[in-house]
Amino acid sequence: MVPVSHDHTARLAALDAASLRRTRRVVDAKDGPHLQVDGRALLSFASNDYLGLSQHPALIAAAQEAAGRYGVGATSSPLVCGHEAPHDALEAELAAFVGRPRALYFGSGYLANVGLVPALVGRGDAVFSDALNHACLIDGVRLSRAEAHVYPHVDLAALGERLAASTAQRKLVVTDAVFSMDGNIAPLRELLSLCEQHDALLMVDDAHGFGVLGPQGRGTAAHLGVADAPRLVYMATLGKAAGCAGAFVAGEADTVEWVMQRARTYIFATATPAMVAAAVRASLKVIAHDEGRRDHVAALTRRLHTGMAGLPWRLLPSDTCIQPLIVGENQPTLELAAALRERGLWVPAIRPPTVPEGTARLRVSLSAAHSHADVDRLLQALADVST
Ligand SMILES: *Cc1c(COP(=O)(O)O)cnc(C)c1O
Repeated sequence: MVPVSHDHTARLAALDAASLRRTRRVVDAKDGPHLQVDGRALLSFASNDYLGLSQHPALIAAAQEAAGRYGVGATSSPLVCGHEAPHDALEAELAAFVGRPRALYFGSGYLANVGLVPALVGRGDAVFSDALNHACLIDGVRLSRAEAHVYPHVDLAALGERLAASTAQRKLVVTDAVFSMDGNIAPLRELLSLCEQHDALLMVDDAHGFGVLGPQGRGTAAHLGVADAPRLVYMATLGKAAGCAGAFVAGEADTVEWVMQRARTYIFATATPAMVAAAVRASLKVIAHDEGRRDHVAALTRRLHTGMAGLPWRLLPSDTCIQPLIVGENQPTLELAAALRERGLWVPAIRPPTVPEGTARLRVSLSAAHSHADVDRLLQALADVST
C-alpha cells in the first residue's frame, strides 16, 4: 500500500481538476513540421527547430560518420575519458563563433544552468534573477545557496536598487536573452552597464536567440553588440535552432576553466555522445552560412504576427520565432488547442506553473521548415475557431 500521505491517485485527480495534467503524444514519423502523431497527420507549431535543421542531411551524415568512428556512447565523464576529438573541436568552434576565448560543451541546457549558477556563486554571494527566467535558471539559483533576489521582469530600476543595496561578496545577475514563453529580448547592454556599476557578473541564457539572432546567427549578445563584454557569461542551448542536443557556456578563459572545475553537472555526468558533437559542428556551418533560413523564418514571423493581430486574443510584442497568443484561463486555452488539433494543427497550450497564473497561452513557434502556406493554414484555423 502507498502511504496515505502519498496518495498519488488523489494527487493526480487534483491535477485533473485544475486542468493541469500533462500528457505526451507519440510522434511516429516526421518531415519537418509535418508529423504523424498517433496515426494522424498534424502540422506542428510546437517545436523549437527554428532553422529547420533537426533533419538536415549534413547533420545526419556527420552524426553517422562519428558514430562509425566513436560509437554511440562517450562511456564516461569528460574529465575521465569522455572528452573526444569532436567535443574538443566543437568547443573551439563554438568559442570562435560567439567571439569568446573559450567554451565548454554540456549535455543539455538544463544541466548547464543547474551547474553554472552554483559554480559562479555560493553562500555569502547574491544572485539576481528576472521573474520570467526559465525553470532551469531558477533551479540553478536554488542549488547555488546564494542569497536569491527575483526582480520584476526586465525592471532595470528595481534591479539597480537591489544591486546597490546588496553587501554580498560576489553578485551575479542571470537572465534569459529571449524569454522562452513571451519571445521578448532582454536589454543586455543596459544590464551589463548595471553590472559594471555594481561590480556584478551577467549570465545570459540564449536558448532562443542562438542561431537565429545576430550576424550569421551568433546570438542575442552579438545582435545587441555586447558579445565580447568581459562581464558576460554566455550560455546557449544546441537542441533548438541548432537542431541537435546539448548546450555550451562561453566566456573568459579562466571563467570557463573555473566552471569546468566546479560545475557538478559537467563533472559527474557522462559526456554527450561524440556523434551529437559532430552533428553540432555540421550545424554550426549551416547556421553561419545559410542566411536564407533566417530570412525565411523572419518573413514567416512577420506574416504570422500581422495575421494574428486581427484575432480576438492578446498578442505579446514579440518579433522572434516565439509568438504567444494569451488566452488567460487554463480550460479555454486547452479547448482552443483541442479545436486546432481537430483541424490538423498542433499548437501547444502553456499553463502555470510554466507561465504566471491567468496568462495561459498558445505558444506558436515558427521554423524555417514551415512554408507561407503552413502559416496561412494556421491563421485560417484561428479565424475559424474564433467565430
Ligand atoms: C529549453 C531551454 C533550456 C533547457 O535546454 P535543454 O537543452 O532543452 O535542456 C534552458 N533555458 C531556456 C531559456 C530554454 O528555453
